[in-house]
Amino acid sequence: MEVLKNYIGRSWIDSNEKETRNVVNPANQEVLTRVPYGTRTGSDVAAAVKAAGEAFGEWQQVPVMRRVQPLYRLKHLLEEHVEEIARLITLECGKSYAESVAEMQRGIENVETACATPTLMQSEFSENITSGIDEFMIRQPLGVCACVSPFNFPGMIPFWFLPYAIATGNSFILKPSEKVPLTMMKVFELIDQLDLPAGLINLVHGGKESVDALLDHPDVKAVSFVGSTPVARYIYQRGTAGGKRVQAQGGAKNPLIVMPDAELEMTAKIIVDSVYGCAGQRCLAASNIVLVGDSNRTVKEALVEAAKNKTTGFGLDEGVEMGPVITPESKARIEKLIDKGIEEGASLLLDGRGATISGYDAGNFIKPTVLDNVALDGEVIKTEIFGPVMSLISMDTIDQAIDFVNENKFGNMACLFTSSGLNARTFRNRANAGNIGVNIGVAAPMAQFPFSGWNDSFFGDLHGQGRHAIEFFTQTKVVIERWPKEWTRKF
Ligand code: NAD
Repeated sequence: MEVLKNYIGRSWIDSNEKETRNVVNPANQEVLTRVPYGTRTGSDVAAAVKAAGEAFGEWQQVPVMRRVQPLYRLKHLLEEHVEEIARLITLECGKSYAESVAEMQRGIENVETACATPTLMQSEFSENITSGIDEFMIRQPLGVCACVSPFNFPGMIPFWFLPYAIATGNSFILKPSEKVPLTMMKVFELIDQLDLPAGLINLVHGGKESVDALLDHPDVKAVSFVGSTPVARYIYQRGTAGGKRVQAQGGAKNPLIVMPDAELEMTAKIIVDSVYGCAGQRCLAASNIVLVGDSNRTVKEALVEAAKNKTTGFGLDEGVEMGPVITPESKARIEKLIDKGIEEGASLLLDGRGATISGYDAGNFIKPTVLDNVALDGEVIKTEIFGPVMSLISMDTIDQAIDFVNENKFGNMACLFTSSGLNARTFRNRANAGNIGVNIGVAAPMAQFPFSGWNDSFFGDLHGQGRHAIEFFTQTKVVIERWPKEWTRKF
């Protein structure tokens, strides 16, 4: 079976690594392809850094208006091929086809936003800051920048970084997740059509060894990472110790608060979409649902009813709303956490364990699961489950609920459902999370805004997307100039 090639210096090149891993369809365990995976992928990284370094030399001098022109072409190519790319996302990652299309739309929006780089990169100028002296700031690119992406959004996440990096004048190396490399292989076929300088954008496969080679290479100036918290912390520490600029987005455990004055039907639908969308494998998936006040029973019934109605199956089949989780190991881990929740005292309102889907017996399926009265001092309430599991908790007041939100060691997202402006205002002011939703279940910032995780959900200063990305991929230079009259020859 074919082994995926790297894309280095505008050519498709065999990896130096002979060891491989299978890339598998999580709905039926079919092996889709094989990806290089082992210690020798480090030498592939060295070749990519060399090519990217050479491309940077000239690219940084290309005027920014010309640097964004390929992004307009990329947007159109992505739109033309969106169906094919979405099918690949569903095949290797498992989410439903509609979710895969929506994911690509978010990726394309980042390409569109990066087209505004000529304006976003403009800087500040102060005339006569002191007598006869002007001062201004310019933004210059960093050099070779690298991105390491996770399995759960193979089409979108590289675009939180890639278009901004090259529009601001850098060169770029992507290391996609070894679990889902096919999506970016297709995207790079499109990138290959853009007539970019050789080495400007490169793709290298592999796992930890490729990542470590990127982190340790002195010519890599910046690393953008998205993935689990332990790896994000490691990448931030190792990358910054080597003097690199690092932004590392980590995992999450997202709480949603439902007030008694929330509109019942719509709230239940939005929450269920948040918990079970992408089979719960979203860093913005709702996990802990806090029901405040005395309307508890009705809300629970509505949530369980909406959860029951989700159709689980292979994401390319008609009518399927929820696909499998990524690996058999992941399925086993999630089912163990459900068992643990019950052991810790929760009652099971809906049991999705041991799910079988006709025609897909080997798939990693778990159906929607609802745990009620989950122990506040237990493991399940604190652990990122990354699967289709809703944990219900009851509290008496909004203050107690906000305190619960703020005890969370993560800080990716927190949401409130209410019809009171005062509740909404109190919540948005006090909740310790970087992405806040009011009557929103997945508070995913659009491309113009930073993807703002806090606490253990983010290591670094500047986030992905929008203006933050422009700032991350540039360094500022402040220039102070004196041009006194008496020094200037008159003509
Ligand atoms: P992961 O951390 O296992 O892997 C992410 C990337 O890191 C992959 O490319 C992988 O090859 C590499 N990697 C894995 N282990 C490594 C190691 N020890 N050293 C160096 N590199 C290593 O994450 P995943 O399972 O692919 O993705 C799911 C996680 O990502 C979840 O925790 C989810 O919450 C998180 N996530 C966060 C965001 C966000 O914006 N905060 C977005 C999407 C996903």
